[in-house]
Amino acid sequence: MPALLGLGQRGLGQRAGRPHQTDDYRDRRRRTLPAGVLRLPTIGIDIGGTKVVAGVVSGEGTIVEQLRADTPDKSKSPKVVEDVIVELVLELADRHDVHAVGIGAAGWVDSDRSRVLFAPHLNWRDEPLREALSDRLKFPVVVENDANAAAWAEWRFGAGRDEDLLVMITLGTGIGGALVRQGRVDRGRFGLAGEFGHMQVVPGGHRCPCGNRGCWEQYSSGNALVREARELAAAESPVAQPLLARVGGDVTAITGPLVTEAARAGDPMAVELLHDIGSWLGVGLANLAAALDPGRFVIGGGVSAAGDLLLGPAQDAFRRTLTGRGFRPEAQIVPAALGNEAGLIGAADLARAVARRFRTVKRSRAER
Ligand SMILES: [Zn+2]
Repeated sequence: MPALLGLGQRGLGQRAGRPHQTDDYRDRRRRTLPAGVLRLPTIGIDIGGTKVVAGVVSGEGTIVEQLRADTPDKSKSPKVVEDVIVELVLELADRHDVHAVGIGAAGWVDSDRSRVLFAPHLNWRDEPLREALSDRLKFPVVVENDANAAAWAEWRFGAGRDEDLLVMITLGTGIGGALVRQGRVDRGRFGLAGEFGHMQVVPGGHRCPCGNRGCWEQYSSGNALVREARELAAAESPVAQPLLARVGGDVTAITGPLVTEAARAGDPMAVELLHDIGSWLGVGLANLAAALDPGRFVIGGGVSAAGDLLLGPAQDAFRRTLTGRGFRPEAQIVPAALGNEAGLIGAADLARAVARRFRTVKRSRAER
């Protein structure tokens, strides 16, 4: 029986100088992360549109080893994706003493965290992923939405640490969203909370792949940035000349990172494009503040690499739009700390709770 080193022994939930935390809150959190939480390594897997990344993550949230494989094409059967995951896990388990596997998947995961109801990049429709994988791997498996996993990682180890009500926004091609409330991922009644990117912000606006028009992610995301930049360049606007020069006149070669690079170099048009994306971000955050009243927003994802070029305008628009402004405390808006690895780290850490339960069951059986 390996040593059970509890996080509780390090005093989680017992930090001094947090007078707004009630005893009730601390008790709840101790139940969420009890002394039995293992510090043993687990495996986290991030299944994205192009890559499957698997990593061994220590109890302190550090990635010990990482492997990658291509995401199988959408046309392939669910079994092919499982094969990729199994292969990565077994290779890591050969070299590391791991105790559970957490999967962070782009898609809708049911409230039991066992089935993927729908995944945009994969052929998963009501797929019983947890059962399929735990049968093959003989490890306890947790399946979680990738944005939830990333938010959990930021709450545990990153920019959202110790925040009682944290909203995480991941600005990638679209908007990923998640909520950590008093030390728990709040996934809603059916597991589908946090789809903030599909709140309608412009009636009759841009068409969204979800089928609606005017969704927030059509105005504040990597795709929105690229669409706006390309539109401007295609219109042969003179203000887009510096951007076009960077891609040799090829409008389709304009990407989000390219716009960010141009903005950093001082191209006024690129700065303006990021300003627009940032302003829309701030408006959406103000809406979320009206609904949820969080203490902190953590902003991650590829677009957040633009830093203050994005977050400055977001902060301004947030202050201008926030309901009750001037008469209420304001949520902080901070950049994420864990980068692209957040999903993997969070999935691994969420699996830790299952590893514990698994071992508790084994132990109680042995004691009988
Ligand atoms: Zn939508």
